Amino acid sequence: MVKVGVVALQGDFLEHLQLLKELRVEAIPVKSIKDFNGLDALIIPGGESTTIGFLMRVKGVDKAIVEFVESGGVVMGTCAGTILLAKSVKDRVVGDTGQFTLKLMDIAVVRNAFGRQRDSFIAKVMVEGVGEIDVAFIRAPAIVEAWNDAKIIAYIEHPATNRVGAAAIEKNMLALAFHPEITKSIAIYNYFLDMVKR
Ligand code: GLN
Repeated sequence: MVKVGVVALQGDFLEHLQLLKELRVEAIPVKSIKDFNGLDALIIPGGESTTIGFLMRVKGVDKAIVEFVESGGVVMGTCAGTILLAKSVKDRVVGDTGQFTLKLMDIAVVRNAFGRQRDSFIAKVMVEGVGEIDVAFIRAPAIVEAWNDAKIIAYIEHPATNRVGAAAIEKNMLALAFHPEITKSIAIYNYFLDMVKR
């Protein structure tokens, strides 16, 4: 039986926990280092990446995540979670943000790439290995580059960005620019859970 943790410091972790419960997957909120015990997989949810990153460091959860991933644990970042996984982060308007990230994935992201909160949208995205899914882009980042073992597995066409990456994979790490929990895109969760079995 797979046990999934959802980083529960800020953002929409409750929606992930609820959906995992509906899928009958054992899931727990992760708020501190002790919550990593016995975890097979971890979700870093959407929210505000600077706030989540700050709280991660306060709680020591940042180092626990790096250790978890380096020891083979599967991680999925969504939206702000993807920003936190990325090695390189810029903001569409302010450029370099200098913000803290875990620097685990060889991807470059642009925060708020599709505009402001009111420019949020739901779109169909074709994800390699998953199929076409409806997902929500909420003040989402774009994945603009992937190198070494990281690979972009979904693209989105948008007037603000043209064609940019919407999802990327690197070994045991999956980065989604969008929110799959809002539209209940079960196929993505199954893909993530399959990564654990692999
Ligand atoms: N814009 C947010 C950030 O940069 C991410 C938004 C989200 O997670 N929905 O942190």
